[in-house]
Amino acid sequence: MQSAAFQEHIASYYAASRNASPHYPALAEHIEVETCVIGGGLAGIGTALPLAEAGHSVALIEAARIGYGASGRNGGQVIHGWAADMDKIAAALGIPAAKELWQMSLEALDLVDERVRRFNIDCDWQRGYATVAVRPRHMEALRQWHRDAADTYGYHGYSVWSAAQLQEQLASERYVGALYDEDSGHLHPLNYTLGLAQAAHAAGVAVYEHTPLVSLGHHQGGYLITTPHGQIKARNVVATVNVFLEDLHQPLLQPLAAKILPVGTYIIATEPLGARAESLIRNNMAVCDTRFVLDYYRLSGDQRLLFGGRISYTGRDLTATDIQRSMRREMLRVFPQLSDVAVDFAWGGHVDISMSRAPHFGRLEPNLYFMQGFSGHGVAATGIGGLVTAEAILGDDRRLRLFEQLRHADFPGGRHLRLPSQWAGTLYYRLRDMMP
Ligand SMILES: Cc1cc2nc3c(=O)[nH]c(=O)nc-3n(C[C@H](O)[C@H](O)[C@H](O)COP(=O)(O)OP(=O)(O)OC[C@H]3O[C@@H](n4cnc5c(N)ncnc54)[C@H](O)[C@@H]3O)c2cc1C
Repeated sequence: MQSAAFQEHIASYYAASRNASPHYPALAEHIEVETCVIGGGLAGIGTALPLAEAGHSVALIEAARIGYGASGRNGGQVIHGWAADMDKIAAALGIPAAKELWQMSLEALDLVDERVRRFNIDCDWQRGYATVAVRPRHMEALRQWHRDAADTYGYHGYSVWSAAQLQEQLASERYVGALYDEDSGHLHPLNYTLGLAQAAHAAGVAVYEHTPLVSLGHHQGGYLITTPHGQIKARNVVATVNVFLEDLHQPLLQPLAAKILPVGTYIIATEPLGARAESLIRNNMAVCDTRFVLDYYRLSGDQRLLFGGRISYTGRDLTATDIQRSMRREMLRVFPQLSDVAVDFAWGGHVDISMSRAPHFGRLEPNLYFMQGFSGHGVAATGIGGLVTAEAILGDDRRLRLFEQLRHADFPGGRHLRLPSQWAGTLYYRLRDMMP
């Protein structure tokens, strides 16, 4: 786990290239609002923004800086769909509900596009995304999904690419083909998060940084949120603290902790590659492979290769040197031609994996909302999760109820007991990925 030092953004390429943005004050008084959002990542901001735009009074508290958590450190891949397979969602909810959830995942992409334009957020937003197959059987699964996406979900944004077609765009011989998606894409996640927070602030959200939740309790039919130097009275609370939840020790939120497992994942950024960058990924798409422990990569706005992957269940922080060494090795498996290239940045964070990989959104009490379990698909999905939560707070919970129908099992045991079984599971899938 990240130590909950909760100060500045961690050292990363994103922090080094972030846009100028306001430093929001710490809460130092007692205030009253209709809704208090806890957590200044994309899920929290994605809820606060539409609420404020509807004229609702909202305070958002962030323990560190806006975008300190996963939202400011991720791979920047903006993907539709959910981390769980659609056939599992359809088996759980039926085809009509699954179709509606699929449509919402497309709406999530449109929300990114619309907000980047409307708020003029400088975050290198770019469409184009390929899921690349390492094994022939992975390619067969991509072909099958291409057919199902069209036949069942009416989605026609995919094209199947042969290995040769893929190599016209991607200078790697590692893959047997790809499923290209023209709608998904990538962006600079910290600049996107900071830009959205500025938009939320301009719409009227009272944003507080360096303001950790210390305790959450019932109070006069609503909630009392206590922070180190101030309190907030609110009718509704939205908890979006992601993998930090387990460290909060808040009885009202504790039932959520067993539903997610924090899984470490790591990214390196090379030095700027200049004209060489274009020869690596000619159409500037984002790329992700099909293995269980997958590689995900893309070019940055200043022509670096940002290469992510690996996972860790140990909860220990890896040093930047360890991350750099292991991720560089993985990058050279894909792009051996980069052996002379320096790595300028290495960092990591934790993804909130739910047992089924489906999103876990809903309510613990009628006015106590939460979002978690994005399972590595949160950049786009936080936008729609925030919107449906805001809709529910404003009186229309139809779309939130759809998510609430997804049942979520607990990871058995506490964090420590659940680690060995995850290790065993990962080892099994790693071995499977080695088979043709
Ligand atoms: C390395 C990495 C790569 C990833 N790559 C991708 C990708 O390419 N594409 C994709 O879609 N998803 C990706 N993800 C997942 C994605 O980043 C997340 O799903 C998404 O950012 C979750 O947003 P969030 O707002 O729920 O959580 P966060 O952004 O983690 O926000 C939670 C916030 O709560 C704050 N907080 C914690 N405790 C308190 C407290 N006591 N009081 C107040 N605030 C508190 C934290 O400081 C933090 O800012 C990746 C994640 C990681 C870590």
